[in-house]
Amino acid sequence: MSEADALRLEGVERRYGRGETTIEVLNGAELTLKPGESVALIAPSGAGKSTLLHIAGLLERPDAGEVHVGGATTAAMNDEKRTALRRVEIGFVYQFHHLLPEFSALENIVLPQMIAGLSRAEAAARAQELLNYLGLAARADHRPAELSGGEQQRVAIARALANAPRVLLADEPTGNLDPKTADHVFDALAELAKASRVAALVATHNLDLAARMDRRVTLRDGLVVEMV
Ligand code: ADP
Repeated sequence: MSEADALRLEGVERRYGRGETTIEVLNGAELTLKPGESVALIAPSGAGKSTLLHIAGLLERPDAGEVHVGGATTAAMNDEKRTALRRVEIGFVYQFHHLLPEFSALENIVLPQMIAGLSRAEAAARAQELLNYLGLAARADHRPAELSGGEQQRVAIARALANAPRVLLADEPTGNLDPKTADHVFDALAELAKASRVAALVATHNLDLAARMDRRVTLRDGLVVEMV
């Protein structure tokens, strides 16, 4: 692998047993993302998008193959090391924001940074900067319930990028939003990912939004295939 790669999946296999039958979800999948590169993952339900994202995010282990995050190879790592690497190098955005309801927008972005070892002051400065960038400066003290769906998702994006990860993984990040809001949130995600040189892999059903990313891939017979 080149040192310059942010994320690389190599020969990744994943199968699930179900009674007598086995479902081969990933069957030697290969995928490389460079720093700052954005890739849309477009495939029908059940094709294995979530499985791929979980494996790329070190949440799930492949049955075979290797996941490189930056210069690190992860197959031989124990769970503790994988968790430590995930915390530093990978940010997640889901379809639903999963913000902590009792904390403000700012605090939701501060917490992961304090867990990573930053002081409250440093973390708050970075959180405010991210909120400003996302046009949410005036919402810093609001709790998630006081924010619109689009604002909640932008805070979730800021939280995912708070620790300046190498890789951003998003599973239908705008799937729960109306089209116009989805448009804004998706642009915010793409711009912030570019600005921070994070490699972004985004599962989406929205072809218009996917068209704005650097590359589009799909899953076919357990392999990652470029879409042209
Ligand atoms: P997608 O995100 O594209 O909808 P998934 O990655 O969730 O697809 O699932 C791919 C396939 O693997 C589906 O057929 C699903 O039913 C199956 N699958 C996913 N997770 C499990 C599991 N924990 N146990 C058994 N089968 C699973």
